[in-house]
Amino acid sequence: MTIPPSGTQNQVNVVRDGSMSHLRDRVQELEASWDRLCVGDWSWDHLATLHRQAHSLAQFASSFGISTVGTTAQQLEQALAQLEASHLATLTPETRAPIDALFTNLSAVVHANEDETYVRTLFYPLAATGRAERQIAVLIVDESAAANHLALQLEHFGYHATVVSTFDGIEEAIRANPPTAMVMDIMFFEGDLIGSQRMVETTREAGTVPVIFLSQRNDFEARLSAVRAGGKAYLTKPVDIDGLVGVLDTLTGAFVPDPFRVLIVDDTRMMSILYEAMLRDAGMRTVALNDPTQIIHVLNEFQPDLLLLDMYMPTCTGTEVATLIRQQAAFVSLPIVFLSGEHDRENQLAALNQGGDDFLTKPIMAAQLVSAVTSRARRARAMRAQLSQDGLTGLLTHASIKEQVVREIVRAQRYGTILTVVMIDIDHFKRINDSYGHAAGDRVLKGLARLLHQRLRTSDSIGRYGGEEFLIIMPQTDGPMVFSVIDDIRARFATIGHQLSDGDKETTVTFSGGIASLRPMDDSNHLLEAADTALYAAKHAGRNRIVLSEGPCDGNISSPHH
Ligand code: GH3
Ligand code: MG
Ligand code: MG
Repeated sequence: MTIPPSGTQNQVNVVRDGSMSHLRDRVQELEASWDRLCVGDWSWDHLATLHRQAHSLAQFASSFGISTVGTTAQQLEQALAQLEASHLATLTPETRAPIDALFTNLSAVVHANEDETYVRTLFYPLAATGRAERQIAVLIVDESAAANHLALQLEHFGYHATVVSTFDGIEEAIRANPPTAMVMDIMFFEGDLIGSQRMVETTREAGTVPVIFLSQRNDFEARLSAVRAGGKAYLTKPVDIDGLVGVLDTLTGAFVPDPFRVLIVDDTRMMSILYEAMLRDAGMRTVALNDPTQIIHVLNEFQPDLLLLDMYMPTCTGTEVATLIRQQAAFVSLPIVFLSGEHDRENQLAALNQGGDDFLTKPIMAAQLVSAVTSRARRARAMRAQLSQDGLTGLLTHASIKEQVVREIVRAQRYGTILTVVMIDIDHFKRINDSYGHAAGDRVLKGLARLLHQRLRTSDSIGRYGGEEFLIIMPQTDGPMVFSVIDDIRARFATIGHQLSDGDKETTVTFSGGIASLRPMDDSNHLLEAADTALYAAKHAGRNRIVLSEGPCDGNISSPHH
């Protein structure tokens, strides 16, 4: 069974169907064991096995929220426990009857399929919050010609902007294409600023949609009106696109971090499938591992933010796995959460002593699992970000991106896949700083970082290699393909008008880039050198262009574009 991608109701159905058929099989096994016991194959060992099977059936059914089966299985488990405690020499019809009755019940409920809604209830509190490949709609309310220009600029950053130029058009526009945010020129309301009824009306019409006010004015009175009207942000005109995108990203949640990656280790396949479905419904990425002996390999490949670990597995225990992981420097800070039917406090504490961070008990509700995983993973990420992320751009630091190059080279060489890197450097950046100040330069850097992040895949790594230099790693992508992607970004970036001074004038900024793909005997130094040489060639050829390096870095360089 495979789980469909998140965001579809299918996941729920697939898991439900899978768990129901799993339950029916288990009940059938249980019935068969019971029958064997009854026809004379009486033994205490067999009874103990049967008892254990009933226990795990009850636990499994409860985990999936299938309460009818869960309750009946629990009653059966208790009845078998009593039978075990009675120390009977043989099975009498009197002792047999109530258990037979429970089996009849169990068979009825497991085939009734009347629990149509159970998984739905289990999943209900969680909306799909994954990073959707959607364009975020922004409504611009502005009568000036600059509005269309602004809309065009926003498109480069992945927003879909529509413009209305009359007050009366707002309602219709909201209905036609419900925006995620509104950008509104305050000019509309001038003359009656304080408590402007129209501003209030408009923001009310926008409902929960955040409104950003734009204004020529920068005085207290104007800002106060905007606040009173319920504006979420206030920007002065002419609008700086990098600043506006920053505000929109925050208000719309567009610049969402990559989904959390969770590795699930549980020897029971159906359990891991259930947890995967729960976490994927919450927008996380998951990998399930049913054989714990593969863990090191999978940790290295998947680089999870968190490990969800079963306690009791046939090959080894969860605590053994945790200890083994903690003995490796690379995984010392990986959050490990035990998930187990173990209710004994002492055993739980012992497990935490062995390197676990938290203990969750089965059965678990989706909301509880997701919240436990989210808070741990978020904190772990924040800690890692402190060390690996550049403060200005949020991209990887020089040291981190260099480590990443080494990791990706190892991976590419092991699997024989292609690996391509890009070195980017902003053109004449010194002039930007000299003419408009360092802060303006910083805004441009942020804008480019944002554009790269938005345009590239999550499997690509982006780092701030130097002051105004960026390094991008693109696994499993060849040079020409990378060229077309980066050249498209180059062209888009070059058309963005940055508002760097107070005047009306917008400034365009360009960058150059060098691309190099990994050759068989390359190490990271060779690869980065080749990209750097290509970048130098791009600068030399006049800037605002991308050069693709071919073959060894002996100056043999070609530029398919120019
Ligand atoms: P070109 O690359 O096209 O040859 O010209 P350039 O002017 O960009 O070249 P150079 O590498 O000599 O200049 C880079 C400048 O970038 C120097 C420095 O002032 C500026 N810079 C470096 N880091 C930052 C930063 O974090 N913020 C700002 N605002 N400027 C930075
Ligand atoms: Mg430079
Ligand atoms: Mg430069």
